[in-house]
Amino acid sequence: MTSSPEHSTIISETTCPLCEEGAKSHLQEGSIMIGYIHSTESFGTVDGPGVRFVIFFQGCPMRCLYCHNPDSWQIRTQQAPAGTPMTAAELLELYERNKEFYQNGGITCTGGEPLMQMGFLTELFSAAKQRGVHTCLDTSGIVFSESRLAEFDALTQVTDLVMLDIKHIDDEKHRELTGHSNAPVLAFAQYLSDKGIPVWIRHVIVPGWTDSEAEQDALGYFLGGIKTLKALDVLPYHTMGVRKYESLGIPYPLEGVPAVTPAQAGAAREVILKGLKRRLRDNILGKQ
Ligand code: SF4
Repeated sequence: MTSSPEHSTIISETTCPLCEEGAKSHLQEGSIMIGYIHSTESFGTVDGPGVRFVIFFQGCPMRCLYCHNPDSWQIRTQQAPAGTPMTAAELLELYERNKEFYQNGGITCTGGEPLMQMGFLTELFSAAKQRGVHTCLDTSGIVFSESRLAEFDALTQVTDLVMLDIKHIDDEKHRELTGHSNAPVLAFAQYLSDKGIPVWIRHVIVPGWTDSEAEQDALGYFLGGIKTLKALDVLPYHTMGVRKYESLGIPYPLEGVPAVTPAQAGAAREVILKGLKRRLRDNILGKQ
């Protein structure tokens, strides 16, 4: 805990929109908003353009079978504290220590799921933008809701780039893979397109789950409708998270599923791009 004692009284709590368990999306102490942070990384090179200060938020409602950060799942409650309480100023102070390295980069917020603490995330990005820092949000998009458009509008005004993970284009498979429908995720992608927010899509190729050409083609066809798509990362499934499951005493859900090679992920990317181009052709021909 690094905030000053005079701000130690909790004056408001926001209930998580997804959980019925009394989870809090953020706590506000005095006039200082507090975020709950799993960890930070000073020199991230795979979480957006350039070298970046990466902030891992604590708490995620998803349970992706291939998640390699199960230690970030726990959402902070009064009964179960999780994450390190930090202010935006404290995080930006960490950024400032190495800012000469971030000339072509910036700050990326990832998790866990940063949108579970949207008020704090918006405050952090607002403060970063005031300093001219490039802001990138890496998210599953699962929290998106039409009923929270004002909050999303405020956040996207201070977000330069969204890296959106689409876990599965088929809703039923998405539910099996993550525990949730993909409807909010796809709606968020469309929202970002309509708002003119640049989007990088990430998609993990998992044997038996996302390795069919039909799924990849359908994903590409959907992406062809996202006008602000800037990049597509197709990532190979790996097993590097297994040890974390062992240390947490959680059975690994994809036991025995082999890792995917970069070449296999590259081939999948080509199939996705074919679907995307098919959609673009249909757009031109007025079929969509
Ligand atoms: S959304 Fe990310 S952090 Fe959450 S379970 Fe899925 S992979 Fe893990």
